[in-house]
Amino acid sequence: MSKVMIYGEIKGGKLKKTAYELASEGRKLADKLGGDLGAVIMGSAGEQFAPELARYGVDTVYVMESSDLDTYNSETYAQALAKIVSEKKPEIVLLGHSMQGKDLAPRTAAKLGIGVIADCVSLELDGSTLVGTRPMYAGKCNAKWVTLGSPQMASARPNVLEVVESAKAGAVEKVSFAADTNRPTYTTKDLNLDTSGKVDLTEAEIIVSGGRGMGGNDFSLLEAMAAIFGPTATVGASRAAVDAGWRSHSDQVGQTGKTVTPNLYVACGISGSIQHLAGMGSSKVIVAINKDPEAPIFTKADYGIVGDLFKVVPEFNKELESL
Ligand code: FAD
Repeated sequence: MSKVMIYGEIKGGKLKKTAYELASEGRKLADKLGGDLGAVIMGSAGEQFAPELARYGVDTVYVMESSDLDTYNSETYAQALAKIVSEKKPEIVLLGHSMQGKDLAPRTAAKLGIGVIADCVSLELDGSTLVGTRPMYAGKCNAKWVTLGSPQMASARPNVLEVVESAKAGAVEKVSFAADTNRPTYTTKDLNLDTSGKVDLTEAEIIVSGGRGMGGNDFSLLEAMAAIFGPTATVGASRAAVDAGWRSHSDQVGQTGKTVTPNLYVACGISGSIQHLAGMGSSKVIVAINKDPEAPIFTKADYGIVGDLFKVVPEFNKELESL
């Protein structure tokens, strides 16, 4: 029986990075509780991921087999996750706080009649009680939360938990599942997946973001910087840039956009409003390029360059290329 169970999210036929982060964290928690670590994968194709998950400490991969689970569906996925949790009775259930996790965790928790600590940036045990730390009030403070009831469920912010290899046997257990057709649900008719190959903003290790200071929709200087950094880098934007129609909403970082925690965040022509900081303030290293020395972003930045981004960024890119 698994004391800790993680949800392994699949996107575009691949496990998302959060699955490895959760497996590594789940392993630590399971060891402290003296039990096994399980991982739930939806859909028949899940078996292929068992060896990958075993490398990060998963003992048993539960593959929920059903054509109802071929594409993400809020209701059927929540039914399936609630079913396996009810059957295996783990003490702790962990999901990623991705777009899917934000939808799936509360729905599953509601079916199980439990709470969920959402968007945790760290997890620890106090005895057998799971304590999740999560930022509150747009990142102005961190609060420690516990849930009442069993199991204890939490979702973790992508990119904050450390990935640690810890080889295990990685057994596979297939679990049959049939959706409850009495529940109102929907069917996905067509799925337009992003085929750009661009790394998801929430999973990117480096983000080069542009704001109103970009002055228009030509973000090629920032695209060039991201390209020099490599495939784990991508381009983001402030809401001002998105509202102006220069970038799509999926690129928006902030309170009403995405919350990101990259190793490096380069803010170009972004003032650093409280709403923008709420989305990127927990980035590990922040670099700000802004022509206004009084811009609030400099109070958060680890490194600041005061200057015109159209002069600074080309120089910056030239230096990076020469490294
Ligand atoms: P500005 O504040 O206009 O700053 C532009 C900066 O560019 C300035 O500091 C300027 O000095 C600099 N600059 C100009 N030209 C150059 C140049 N050539 N070289 C270098 N620097 C230059 N905002 C978000 O970003 N994300 C959110 O999710 C979000 N959610 C919101 C939710 C609510 C409820 C509200 C009310 C607001 C929200 N906002 C959000 C908007 C937020 O308040 C700011 O308006 C927005 O972040 C400003 O974007 P900006 O920094 O690009 O623009």
